[in-house]
Amino acid sequence: MWSVWYAWMFRINHVGKLNRIAMEDPLTATLNRRALDLHVDKLIARSRREEKQFAVIFLDLDEFKRINDSLGHRIGDGVLVECAVRFKRVLRDSDMIARMGGDEFILVLDDIKEMHAVSTTARRVLEAFEQPVVVSGESIQVRLSIGVSIFPTNGETREALFHAADIAMYHIKEHGKNGYGFFNDELNHENERNVSMDRALRDALKAGQFELYYQPKYALDGVGVREVEALIRWNRPGYGLVLPSEFIIHAERSGLIHELGTWVIDQACRQIRIFSDSGVATAVSINISAVQLSHRDLQADLKKALQKYGIRPELLELEIAEAILLKHSPILTQRLHDLKGLGVRLAVDGFGRAYSSMGYMTHLPLDRIKIDRSLINDILINPKNRELVSAMIALGHVLNMSVVAEGVEVSGLFEESKRLHADLAQGYYVSEPKKANVLMVEFLKECTRAA
Ligand code: C2E
Ligand code: MG
Repeated sequence: MWSVWYAWMFRINHVGKLNRIAMEDPLTATLNRRALDLHVDKLIARSRREEKQFAVIFLDLDEFKRINDSLGHRIGDGVLVECAVRFKRVLRDSDMIARMGGDEFILVLDDIKEMHAVSTTARRVLEAFEQPVVVSGESIQVRLSIGVSIFPTNGETREALFHAADIAMYHIKEHGKNGYGFFNDELNHENERNVSMDRALRDALKAGQFELYYQPKYALDGVGVREVEALIRWNRPGYGLVLPSEFIIHAERSGLIHELGTWVIDQACRQIRIFSDSGVATAVSINISAVQLSHRDLQADLKKALQKYGIRPELLELEIAEAILLKHSPILTQRLHDLKGLGVRLAVDGFGRAYSSMGYMTHLPLDRIKIDRSLINDILINPKNRELVSAMIALGHVLNMSVVAEGVEVSGLFEESKRLHADLAQGYYVSEPKKANVLMVEFLKECTRAA
């Protein structure tokens, strides 16, 4: 069937070449979007008439941007060409391959009698990439996220079928990648919930419903509180105060995290200015998520806010989750050096959650580690954990970093952190996160007392 279709479309006559240009993706010699649309529309009409089913399969390369960024576009293009070759090897003649641009491909499997035949094809596609792709001597492990929709069960129009396959593919992307999944109603509901959450978050940012709370870090050498961590909250009408665990993940998925992050940077810098103007030189740390870190705007946003409020960059600290640093990417290392070049401080957040690999610490420009509260929590009852934390603190000091004990909830943990020579303690025992104005009053009281 495919060969008939192909012959029709690329028929060798005096307009053959033009047809080819109009219908083919020039890089991979698969069909382009226009050709695929025509094909699917025909297939819908025919399948409806003949009461047949067919499958639409969306494929997206995992981390393709990283391949392009780190190895260059020429190698990236080579990977896409090899993908098309491997897809063709797996498919039947009657199946179609199209490239939608970027790293997205669509396969159409005609006349499906049993669902397991579709699963088998999806599995074979994944198996076809068990061996790395080699381009210009570079060996690249390609992984794919695959989403499937079926005509007519999941949609009776091209748009509905593509939308359903896209949702199924995104579900795979969000749940570990490198796999395949079929569209179903639950995914549809999840998608609708996500869409309405995305809208609510966007509106909340416009309506000024976000607020930064600040949690003090207590210096254990007796200086007291001169540093705070900014923690975002959402004053959501009808829901009360919503914590970041409920919405950051949505903001990351939708990309709103960039605008939200820009807002956090601006607010935190503004607050540093207010602290300084009131005579309390207080450093503020902000949390930076992986998505933000991979974006070029971050550096520009920081620079802009530091200048706007005229603050010393060392008063701003960026907390970066350890899991992000464990990825060992040269781009990330460069990004951290660039950020460090602004003069801000960099901290490893949640340190020790994955203590299997700490080699990254010696070559990244880090100033501080914040030992995760899961480890601090039981230093009083678990001698082995206490030793581990003690070793981590010593390690931090050897590498010239200051060390914060996180999740200090009771006086015993506070005293023990001090005994283990942590530099700072953060947690409910010292203080909960508070609104900036409440904290200011406390700071000023403290300063008056000290005077
Ligand atoms: P994190 O950076 O590890 O922040 C510490 C979290 O622990 C905060 O939760 C804080 O309220 C909580 N905490 C502090 N002391 C204690 C304690 O003694 N015991 C216990 N059980 N918890 C304590 P929160 O505010 O809900 O924030 C959760 C996470 O959300 C943060 O974890 C951070 O990763 C993320 N986050 C917060 N604000 C932002 C932001 O502005 N941008 C981004 N990208 N992420 C943020
Ligand atoms: Mg943090």
